[in-house]
Amino acid sequence: MYEIGSGIRVYFENKKEFRNVVFFPDDRYAYYPTGGMLFELIRDDSIYMVTTKVENMIKVFPNYNAEASVDNVTDGFKWLYGTIEDEELPLATELFRGCFNEVILDVVGRPESYECVGDFFVKCYEEYLSRIEAFSVYVDAIAAYNSGSADDFQSEMANDFMSSAEELYGLYTRKCSIHHKNGKVTVDTVQMKNFLQVLTFEYCRMKKESKPLKICENCGRYFIPSKRSDGIYCPAPSPQNPEKPCSEVGANFRQTVKRRRDPVERKHHNNLCRLQNMVRRLTETGASKDHIAKYQTELQQEKKKYLSEKYADGGNGNK
Ligand SMILES: [Zn+2]
Repeated sequence: MYEIGSGIRVYFENKKEFRNVVFFPDDRYAYYPTGGMLFELIRDDSIYMVTTKVENMIKVFPNYNAEASVDNVTDGFKWLYGTIEDEELPLATELFRGCFNEVILDVVGRPESYECVGDFFVKCYEEYLSRIEAFSVYVDAIAAYNSGSADDFQSEMANDFMSSAEELYGLYTRKCSIHHKNGKVTVDTVQMKNFLQVLTFEYCRMKKESKPLKICENCGRYFIPSKRSDGIYCPAPSPQNPEKPCSEVGANFRQTVKRRRDPVERKHHNNLCRLQNMVRRLTETGASKDHIAKYQTELQQEKKKYLSEKYADGGNGNK
């Protein structure tokens, strides 16, 4: 048992596909695959809970106008921590507390005075929010960088983050020790108190396993390619058709867009559809083999013609 606000402790090994063990302050623990901790933190409901909800709760704090004494501040934060809690989001819950705790210590150490407890909370929240914003900016920059869509600012932020994360690569990709003593087993863990620490940890683990964080080219959500690290579509249900994942819809969609824009592609697609339909219809209606063969030959010719037109410019496919 350790204190609320002390964040989480993580046990990990130097293995691929190892599920990290996260220990929470109340002695619960949970397994997270590589990237899983990060994905819990960037869920919409997590982001809502650790930003908007915190802000709203501070506004309705019952003792908002009380004097900013040590006792009132302590009681206030106990109350706040009790309101920001979600069993489905244990990581977001504990990291909010850990991060907010760090901010309180920073703000308390400054020689400023506050009208009331509420004002002190608001000051802490402002400072805390800027840290959450830095976290989201880094997440977005890294994902854009890995997807090849980063602008200058994002590239700079991504490089900035990656070079500092590199310093912890050795620590986060080693093995935590296990100790056996008097029949008891204890494990070494690394403590993480805030969102940026988790991002750094996940970045190192994902790098080790060649699992880049990316942005889906179809729906714009974050994802980790499941097989090849150069995958560009996520496996989640697509906005165009919720029964099919972006990985299925995205490629077709891209093809459709390309076809609409390029006259050669469009003509080829139309010819191909027309001839394929003809062959199918003739086969179904029991037409003679010669009759069908005529269209099959035309189909082959169309494919050849398309390829020769497409690569007429020297083979790179650009028009
Ligand atoms: Zn997607």
